[in-house]
Amino acid sequence: MNQKYDAIVIGAGIIGTAVGCELARKGYRTLNIDKLPAAGYGPTGASCAIIRTHYSTFDGAAIAYEGYFYWEHWPEYIGVDDERGLAKFYDCGCMVIRTELNGYLDKVIANMDALSIPYELWDPAQIKKRFPIYDLHQFGPVRRPDDADFGTPGAEEVKGAVFFPTAGYISDPQLSTHNIQRAAEAAGGEFLFNAKVTEIVITDDRVAGVVLDNGERIASPVVVNVAGPYSQQVNEMAGVTGDMNIATKALKQEVVHIPSPDGFDYQRQGMVTSDSDIGCYTRPEQGNYILIGSEDPACDEREWVDADTYDDNFSEQWRVQALRMAQRISGLRIPSDMRGVVSLYDVSDDWIPIYDKSSLPGFYLAIGTSGNQFKNAPVVGVMMAALIDQCEQGHDHDADPVQFTMRYTNRTIDVGFYSRRRDINPESSFSVLG
Ligand SMILES: Cc1cc2nc3c(=O)[nH]c(=O)nc-3n(C[C@H](O)[C@H](O)[C@H](O)COP(=O)(O)OP(=O)(O)OC[C@H]3O[C@@H](n4cnc5c(N)ncnc54)[C@H](O)[C@@H]3O)c2cc1C
Repeated sequence: MNQKYDAIVIGAGIIGTAVGCELARKGYRTLNIDKLPAAGYGPTGASCAIIRTHYSTFDGAAIAYEGYFYWEHWPEYIGVDDERGLAKFYDCGCMVIRTELNGYLDKVIANMDALSIPYELWDPAQIKKRFPIYDLHQFGPVRRPDDADFGTPGAEEVKGAVFFPTAGYISDPQLSTHNIQRAAEAAGGEFLFNAKVTEIVITDDRVAGVVLDNGERIASPVVVNVAGPYSQQVNEMAGVTGDMNIATKALKQEVVHIPSPDGFDYQRQGMVTSDSDIGCYTRPEQGNYILIGSEDPACDEREWVDADTYDDNFSEQWRVQALRMAQRISGLRIPSDMRGVVSLYDVSDDWIPIYDKSSLPGFYLAIGTSGNQFKNAPVVGVMMAALIDQCEQGHDHDADPVQFTMRYTNRTIDVGFYSRRRDINPESSFSVLG
């Protein structure tokens, strides 16, 4: 081996970069390796980058609330200049429609109360005041446009919504990842791009480094799998799937980029929305556009794919999502040219991530982010660095899970919640909502 590091991170998406940064800040000599040409060029760059606090599990909401404060204090977290400037957090809030499908958000509201996360209950009149363009009729259950009842408004209106003020979005997820790269480099971290890890080196029953596609070997006693939709491939290279109770696989996703309807400035008046009555979430986008993502309703077949060979063109799904949104927004114009992104989620069996060690000493996992962990990246970086550091000092995380105290909310979470060996968590929404 011709090079040696204290820790190698496979992947330079937002979570991989944050893990590298926090290990470097702890004094590890780190190397992030990515097969793409720059940080955040994979699924992170395609992310809607919505920051929100409502999750169906208590722990999911606790970590998301902590994450909110990192975005609020972004310059402080990054701590250095980036020649490209710092990413901007638009804290416009998030409105979630209360539906039968989401249990009228009663469970979420209980979590918000327990965690002292602010929210407001809005009746239909308050929704209409903020969104005069909204047709508040119930359209659910969500249908495909070829269903004869698609778009037929129900007799009743939606019951109301919950508005979460501590929410918003990052308009440039790739830039935010570049910011963290610069922070990592300032702490001594290094990055290697256009290099694919093809083998995990194991010596004396412990990880010892990686081999790249050009044959180069790089030594390190710590390797972290943060490979996004390629996480399962990398786990197989390391031979660590045997004791995992939760697997990960790649799911294709399409996001629609569409102009705001005439007379309404979505960029200024809009906010993040989640509407399970029509199966869509949205956020404002620069230039008075709307991004429309799917909440993967039951009538849509999930498209599990091979991350190396999947078709990254738009499909009929683009129009399905646009038409669903047009039920709610009268006057929405659907252009003939499809714009937006096609990318992949790395989905775990219960749509909750795995932040853990593995059965191979020195090999760690930050995977299965299930389309909803961009917001948590800064916290996950700090949490993974604490987990890795404690395990490297001999702590047995499987027997006695690491307890992690968060900086802003001062709450301690049991990192065992994210164990690879957990039972499937029945509290999960089993969707991108987490
Ligand atoms: C369409 C879409 C919308 C989303 N919207 C939101 C949202 O609104 N809010 C939210 O919180 N989350 C959202 N997410 C999820 C969020 O973006 C991800 O959870 C997050 O970006 C994951 O970051 P990561 O660093 O783990 O992985 P990734 O960004 O997937 O990065 C993994 C990196 O590993 C590299 N890699 C893989 N294998 C190898 C190898 N063998 N050798 C070298 N490099 C390798 C890849 O090239 C890639 O760059 C969304 C995701 C998508 C796809």
